[in-house]
Amino acid sequence: MKYSSVKCLRLICNLLFLLTVSVQAETNNIFLNSVQGKFKHMPESKLEQRLLKEYGSLWINNNSVLLPNLLIFPSETETLNYQNKLKLAKFSSTCALQEPAFKALQKAQQIAQSQKLSVSQRGTDSCLRSYKTTQDLWLSRVKPNLDYYVQNGKISTATANQIKNLKTPSQIEAILKLEQEKNLSFDKYRQGSILNSVAAPGSSQHLTGLAFDLAEFNNPQVRKIMNQCGWWQTVKNDLPHFTYLGLQYESDLQKSGLKQFKQAGFTFWIPNF
Ligand SMILES: [Zn+2]
Repeated sequence: MKYSSVKCLRLICNLLFLLTVSVQAETNNIFLNSVQGKFKHMPESKLEQRLLKEYGSLWINNNSVLLPNLLIFPSETETLNYQNKLKLAKFSSTCALQEPAFKALQKAQQIAQSQKLSVSQRGTDSCLRSYKTTQDLWLSRVKPNLDYYVQNGKISTATANQIKNLKTPSQIEAILKLEQEKNLSFDKYRQGSILNSVAAPGSSQHLTGLAFDLAEFNNPQVRKIMNQCGWWQTVKNDLPHFTYLGLQYESDLQKSGLKQFKQAGFTFWIPNF
């Protein structure tokens, strides 16, 4: 065999080896294993992978709650089909949560009160949200930022208008592409990704009744009580946002495939894959 053919064969073998290792790594991943089977199809597209990394911790929940079997609701109708099946309980007149999440939050409130602390909702949209609310929140970042970048000559008016007119899933992809390729920021203060500021419409954990925005998020004692009751911070940089995971100990979060991400004294539990 010629030297070049041997070299070529070796290259093919190396590539095959790398491919096998990466496939094995994926199937052996604790997080992916613990969420597999909960989705209609495993999230595969670039957008789905990104959303799974940003908001996916929710799906480790095994605590008799109803999880969506898709990562992003494509429309209001699909969202309502899911939300109509939920067993909800009211924490307040403006705060509905799935029953187990509600009970855990009520417990956190009682423990807090016994320590002269409090657990309360941050605003009127701190709990279950409608698809429309998540869409309005998304557009409240997208539209002003597109206008800002047109004024500053970063994108053309035509591009901005075209993106404004896209249907939601395509608009999400277009905005994330602009952030990545043109290094633009679409969060409120143009300092980071839009996904750290608002969820892509249809993908917010608030659509599930398993998320709660806590007013007292700055108090470490209150955060500890929330954790003891199964509520954890799972979305990087979203400080008031807590997710009901139904697990009490950090070791159990690790066993389910989450990892710690620490920032400015806060600990977020994010998917480890
Ligand atoms: Zn939130």
